[in-house]
Amino acid sequence: MPTSIADALDSVRQRIAAAAARSGRPAEAVTLVAVSKTFPPAAVAEAVAAGQRVFGENKVQEGLEKIPLLPADLEWHLIGHLQSNKIRKALPLFHWIETVDSLERARQIDRVASELSCRPRILLQVNIGNDDAKYGYAPDALRADFEDLVALPHLDVRGLMTILPIESDPTRTRAHFARLCTLRGELESRGGRPLPELSMGMSQDYEMAIEEGATLVRVGSAIFGGR
Ligand SMILES: *Cc1c(COP(=O)(O)O)cnc(C)c1O
Repeated sequence: MPTSIADALDSVRQRIAAAAARSGRPAEAVTLVAVSKTFPPAAVAEAVAAGQRVFGENKVQEGLEKIPLLPADLEWHLIGHLQSNKIRKALPLFHWIETVDSLERARQIDRVASELSCRPRILLQVNIGNDDAKYGYAPDALRADFEDLVALPHLDVRGLMTILPIESDPTRTRAHFARLCTLRGELESRGGRPLPELSMGMSQDYEMAIEEGATLVRVGSAIFGGR
């Protein structure tokens, strides 16, 4: 068992490289988003010392407290639901918003981004597992909104993201990942523009997600320990 954050990161990176190789891609095709939610800035600093630059937080408030204490050149991903009253606080902190799941919210983010003169990178969250408990676009609703979403000038729409329901059967998990990848391809050809990023997979299943095409994996407990 890894005993330090540096050792755990090393082990996760090796697994990412092996899974990428199994999917015929170089290790650099997959970005590790280290999910630091609930862990203190000192834990993030330890990961930074071990070479990690990309981090994920699920709450704007926690980001407000933590991100300013850390080096300014890190890349932060918001991976939790973004309420409309938090957009103005979120945009200066987070470079990526991974959880856009309605046209209304996208338009609100676009408006605030215009005021703040920024253009956040956006992932469209899809409820591909059709899980009642999860946020995210139903695939048909996303198909309907897609052209309007990618037309918003202050959003840099980069791809799709999903949070899966816990499945006892890994073949179902794999099928969900594969469906998100297929939906990405469909939207790319309809929209005539690339959607290079697929954010899927967490500590339990990131290797499988990479085998199915993930370009971003969100890994928390396998790096920082249990929450
Ligand atoms: C917490 C969280 C993760 C990381 O989960 P682990 O099981 O700790 O790897 C990934 N994605 C989202 C959206 C999360 O909230």
